[in-house]
Amino acid sequence: MDYPGNLYVVAAPSGTGKSSLVKALLEVDSRMELSVSHTTRAPRGQEVHGREYYFTSHEEFDRMVDADAFVEWAQVHGNRYGTSRKTIEDKIAAGADIVLEIDFQGAVQIKDQFPNAVLIFILPPSWPELRARLMRRNEDSEATIELRMKNAAQEVAQVDKFDFVIINELFERALFDLKAIAHAQRLKVAAQRRARAETFRALDIP
Ligand code: 5GP
Repeated sequence: MDYPGNLYVVAAPSGTGKSSLVKALLEVDSRMELSVSHTTRAPRGQEVHGREYYFTSHEEFDRMVDADAFVEWAQVHGNRYGTSRKTIEDKIAAGADIVLEIDFQGAVQIKDQFPNAVLIFILPPSWPELRARLMRRNEDSEATIELRMKNAAQEVAQVDKFDFVIINELFERALFDLKAIAHAQRLKVAAQRRARAETFRALDIP
């Protein structure tokens, strides 16, 4: 399926700084929209229904799976998360650039259905640094940190399924890399033909 908008999928093991990077990208790039997922997990802290997630009951999630309402969904750390098909399709058809901040299982499902989607994987600079970041967050017990480290080792093994990899050693450098990827997509011939149709016409390009 061809569509005017770009679909960016950002995945990373937890603690890698994925959310901060995506948030910073959205702040500087007004054309980029974040896709809000559905989840069966309970809201944390200041999270608001419809902003961070659509917090959904297990029954409602089952119903949506049965109705094929998700373009992808996956079980992550014991909860289910999914991306609504309708939201994505309507937005990219209207020419929006959308970022999906999802796990690697979801990223692979997106690529199967949207071959033009741009898959970006964020890596930590090292295992000790990832552990240190998880500990600094002060959100998880020691057992949870061990589980996240074990999951992270499995997740990074999937990196070859992605188009781009960013190593988040220095935040500003990683943000620069993310912006560069987004910008490069917009310079593709097909994208420029759409965005700069008048220039193409004026240059008599068939
Ligand atoms: P958290 O509960 O910490 O917000 O998210 C846990 C993990 O689920 C993160 O890796 C996050 O990117 C992932 N996630 C969030 N939304 C989705 C989604 O719609 N689909 C998939 N596959 N993963 C998601």
